[in-house]
Amino acid sequence: MITLLRRATAVCALSTALAACGAGRPPQPPSPPVSAPPSRPPTLAPGPTGLTPVFEHGPRTRGRTVALTFDADMTAGQGARAAAGERFDHPRLISTLRALQVPATVFMTGRWAEQYPDQARSIGRDPLFEVANHSYSHYAYTPDCYGLPTVPEKRMRSDVERAYAALRKAGVTDPMPYFRFPGGCYDRRALKALTPAGVTAVQWDVVGGDAFETDPEVVARQVLDGVRPGSVVVLHCTRSAAPATERAVRSIVPGLRREGFRFVKVSELIGAAGSGARTRPEGR
Ligand SMILES: [Zn+2]
Repeated sequence: MITLLRRATAVCALSTALAACGAGRPPQPPSPPVSAPPSRPPTLAPGPTGLTPVFEHGPRTRGRTVALTFDADMTAGQGARAAAGERFDHPRLISTLRALQVPATVFMTGRWAEQYPDQARSIGRDPLFEVANHSYSHYAYTPDCYGLPTVPEKRMRSDVERAYAALRKAGVTDPMPYFRFPGGCYDRRALKALTPAGVTAVQWDVVGGDAFETDPEVVARQVLDGVRPGSVVVLHCTRSAAPATERAVRSIVPGLRREGFRFVKVSELIGAAGSGARTRPEGR
């Protein structure tokens, strides 16, 4: 599983998504033969001391691309609330992204995938989207992270792997080797604990501000004002906690397209950022 994702060199040779592999503007690579193994998602190389790499945004100078990301939050303790009718999913948001043909990256908690396996599978198998890891139960990886309960250091790696197992069990066949820390909270200790998991930590440079916001125009304005080439925007795919997001997206998408932006998935930005020496070396 995760060890297979380290073959970044092979990624550059094979992936159709990696226009950025190699320096400058490369000629179009030949199509891989039918028997070629599936391409591996691009990742960043570990930091100088072997820490989990952290990605915040793509290149600023390689065109007007932007990645919308949606966190599918759910904690272990929210099952009773879901059973009582609270909606932690947001099917209408996904429908809107499909209708507008907007590629997006969904950072899904394992707990969300367990609660909504049909949706997790549907999102995970739609080439418009990619699904990445947002922990099993949205517990923080540092102390003092917005009041979230914390994952002990010795359980950090297994929490990530438990989330991957839940995503796969729901039918997400190829979750990406990207991890978003709950609350975006991390420190050196957490980055070190996750090194063996082989993930790239994905943060953002634009906060959508959709958590508990009820006015879609507030969210849309914040995103439209904040996006620059290569930006990663964080929003939520959790209807009860982000009730304006779907309506905001209906403004954000045409607004950014008018400004010449093209929507991409996080993997495309990481591929562009990691061209040359910054992809994870093969065989480690
Ligand atoms: Zn979250």
